[in-house]
Amino acid sequence: SDPKVKATFVTLCRNSDLNSLAESIRSVEDRFNHKFHYDWVFLNDDEFTNEFKRITTNLISGKTKYGKISREHWGYPKWIDQEQAARTREIMRSQNVIYGDSISYRHMCRYESGFFYRHELMMDYEWYWRVEPDVKLYCDINYDLFKFMIDNKKKYGFTIALPEYIKTIPSLWKVTKEFIKLHPEYLPENNMLDFISDDDGETYNTCHFWSNFEVGSLSFWRDEAYSKYFDHLDKAGGFFYERWGDAPVHSIAAALFLQRDEIHFFQDVGYYHVPFHNCPVDEEVRIKNNCLCNPDDDSTWRPYSCARKFFDVNNMKRPYGWENYS
Ligand code: GDP
Ligand code: MN
Repeated sequence: SDPKVKATFVTLCRNSDLNSLAESIRSVEDRFNHKFHYDWVFLNDDEFTNEFKRITTNLISGKTKYGKISREHWGYPKWIDQEQAARTREIMRSQNVIYGDSISYRHMCRYESGFFYRHELMMDYEWYWRVEPDVKLYCDINYDLFKFMIDNKKKYGFTIALPEYIKTIPSLWKVTKEFIKLHPEYLPENNMLDFISDDDGETYNTCHFWSNFEVGSLSFWRDEAYSKYFDHLDKAGGFFYERWGDAPVHSIAAALFLQRDEIHFFQDVGYYHVPFHNCPVDEEVRIKNNCLCNPDDDSTWRPYSCARKFFDVNNMKRPYGWENYS
């Protein structure tokens, strides 16, 4: 039999997330991991409590590891003008931008963008599956998702795709275009630019893969193209002077630096993170996998969803009956 894939779940959270996270862990174990026993890495900018470690270790069928994030990975880089960052937060507060006045949310987004895959506990692994507090898996997953990624030459997998609030990323595309100009060699010919831009790269349409669920290759983030891209973004300061999310950052990188067939939509992985659902609309899929979700709640085929665009630009066939859930 094949050797076990070097893969882990990874969760960034606070001690106060314990109870809402326990629900997520239980769901992942019940629907998937009790059959596979993959490890789980927990990361925190603070020290995890013994209670947190006891409760989570008890729920998880693989090995558990707990890491504290270093100061260099969670804090302001020296080139950031903190007064300018504070002015941005004030403006965003007055405009009611979601998390617009939060400092910790910005550190979180920067960490998930550029550092989680560099934590020493992550060095044992080549693949990861990100899990957040308060998420649900709706369906049984009867195959090894990580093996699927390898066998099908996938590098990045998602369950939900949405447009971003433009107010959080006003200059992200301008800064990205500068990078593309400096490094056109990082874009393979068959990239997925048409998923993120409707005018051949002139503007960003804000479509992104929702990063609270990700199954992906760690080497994609560790490799030269993304490392340089992240540094370029970080120097521009938009994690603090705006409120760049890790979801658009990861998604733009995946769309530009991967080949389009390396990105996979896990249509069969029923998933929920407030307020959006991926509930397979094909009843056959729901029955086969014991899904507990209402397809009327599904977000995939709604007019606002970017999953439609993903299907269209990749010439994929929409599932049977999708019109009834749009
Ligand atoms: P949302 O999904 O965009 O509403 O953001 P969340 O509040 O769910 O945060 C995203 C992830 O980062 C979750 O896994 C949180 O537990 C984690 N997180 C957010 N802020 C912090 C923080 O200040 N410290 C730590 N350690 N984790 C955080
Ligand atoms: Mn969340």
